[in-house]
Amino acid sequence: MKKILLALSDEKISSLLDGGNLSQYQIETAKTADAVRQSLASYRPDVLLVGERIKDGNGIELITEILEETPVYPVILFSEQNSTLSPRQVISLGIVDWFPFPFEPDDVPAAIENALSWSRRWKNWQQRQTSQVTGSLQHRVDELETIFKVGRAMTSRLDLDQVLAEVIEAAVEITGAEEGSILLPDEETGELYMRASRNFQEDFVRTFRLPVDDTQAGKVFQTGEPLFWNNVDPQKIKTAYLVFSIIYVPLIFHGQVIGVLSVDNRESQKGFDEEHLTLLLTMADYAAIAIENAKLFSQTEIERSKLEAILTQVEDGVLVIDADDRVVLVNPVVRKAFELGDQKLEGKNFRDIFSHRALLMAIRGDAPNPDRIEVRIDDRRYFRAQVTPIKGVGKVISLHDISYLKELDQAKTEFVTTVSHDLRSPLTSIMGYVELIKRVGEVSDKQMEYIQRVQSSVHHITKMINEILELGKVENRLDKNFEMVVLPPIIEDVVTNQQPIVEERKQTLVVNISEGLPAVFGDSIQLRQMVENLISNAIKYTGRSGKIIVSGGQEKDQVILRVRDSGYGIPLADQAKIFDRFYRADNVTSETQGTGLGLAITKSIVDNHKGRIWVDSKEGEGSTFTVVLPIYE
Ligand code: ADP
Repeated sequence: MKKILLALSDEKISSLLDGGNLSQYQIETAKTADAVRQSLASYRPDVLLVGERIKDGNGIELITEILEETPVYPVILFSEQNSTLSPRQVISLGIVDWFPFPFEPDDVPAAIENALSWSRRWKNWQQRQTSQVTGSLQHRVDELETIFKVGRAMTSRLDLDQVLAEVIEAAVEITGAEEGSILLPDEETGELYMRASRNFQEDFVRTFRLPVDDTQAGKVFQTGEPLFWNNVDPQKIKTAYLVFSIIYVPLIFHGQVIGVLSVDNRESQKGFDEEHLTLLLTMADYAAIAIENAKLFSQTEIERSKLEAILTQVEDGVLVIDADDRVVLVNPVVRKAFELGDQKLEGKNFRDIFSHRALLMAIRGDAPNPDRIEVRIDDRRYFRAQVTPIKGVGKVISLHDISYLKELDQAKTEFVTTVSHDLRSPLTSIMGYVELIKRVGEVSDKQMEYIQRVQSSVHHITKMINEILELGKVENRLDKNFEMVVLPPIIEDVVTNQQPIVEERKQTLVVNISEGLPAVFGDSIQLRQMVENLISNAIKYTGRSGKIIVSGGQEKDQVILRVRDSGYGIPLADQAKIFDRFYRADNVTSETQGTGLGLAITKSIVDNHKGRIWVDSKEGEGSTFTVVLPIYE
């Protein structure tokens, strides 16, 4: 039942109701303007009948107020007697109907019905409008949502084929097209080929080639400007295929066109509009990023797998550590050598994985001989480690297997030691017999001279043999007899012993040791031999009246020992080799006796003590041998 609100004078109400004219409606009455306002909110009448004058005010003003707020409210106005309202005024109010005084109650129901139908028409129109507006809004929201989803999905994909398939699928879906394709340039021929497609026949796709010049797609590729058109007749796009409508949009990345995305209709004549173009352009932006991402990723992936293959297949061990000492990469050789199994090592601190002292020192960069770091895995396996710092990465440690060299070396040392040992007895007997010659009878001066030469040579051979045996001993002794060793007394003692030779050669030998030089941890016999070798060499390779300075001091946690001479010096080319066994430099005259083993022994001793030794020398000016040893802690 429709609701009617009557805001009329009592007489009008009674004349209306008495006749039973309004019996088919639900009726409510309101006497005052306030009551009308309230009733409008609570009772919600379908039609409002208002008198020109109401109890507490002006009906016209009330109507104006109501229609101001709800212009489509069906209001019927009843004029009073002697009303001055003109029809023009009434019309401008915006009401549905008007009864001037006096009115005919029988006419009112028709007016009410008319008002109701007027109101219905309004409502229907409103509904249609709303649904049209919200419908197109919803459509837009849906489109944006699709683009957003597609964009996110695309840009997160790293597989190029998948990305392309997704781009086309979305493009076709968004535009409601029949087909879609992505054209990329062929690097060799410069033509465009179909890198991915949807709803095209496979054979067609495979053989599809489009020159850049003189084709629509090529034009888009060259200019970076999109193209679209709709035709009544199907058009063959410059020797390609027949379509009714098509959109081409460029795929642009960093200002450069990398391809063309297209959708088309071949069967249906429904065309595309500006909106489709805008959507496709938005998608193309995402697509270009996604394609470049995927390309970059696949390039990186190829490089990475190449690198991985190299690292897996090289014979050397490779270990990479970042600036925070975390393992970045360990290749299989390292895993095998250090028995690390399959466990995940990347990201762990290298100290938690490796415990080999030489390797740790190498990584920390405090190995005594950075050029010759040997990592001993067990008695038979040795690696030479080389550490290369790489900016932005950390450190790369390569480990080269030198076990076979070690084996050879060992075999050689054993052989030399055995031979040397076995040579000692025949030499002793030669010495004995030569000594006897003088005793068993007269020898001439010439014979005496030869005897002395034999003696000197045998003496030289014996010295050499002793040194070889000594070297073997030093090399095998390692740190078995290590203790706290104070160097100054040893130096003093060696100097005292050498004093007669120094005096004979009219040389000056100065000892300059700083007070309180800390002790080192080592083997005193070896250290004595080291000092002796250096000082005796300095004396030997310095001419008459030369000067030798032996100095000792401390630098941080190291003891620095220097033996400087003003002697012959060592040619630059020889400097690297003088620490090798049996090596004698070119500066040595034949009368300077020597075996070439002294410095090899010295070097072994220094290595044994985790120290370092090197020489600075200039021919004709002299040499300085420096030994650095860690102090005893
Ligand atoms: P040797 O002295 O028995 O020849 P070393 O191993 O002690 O053997 O020394 C190797 C070589 O190094 C020497 O032959 C010499 O050429 C060079 N050398 C060593 N010390 C000095 C020095 N103080 N001045 C110049 N040359 C030196």
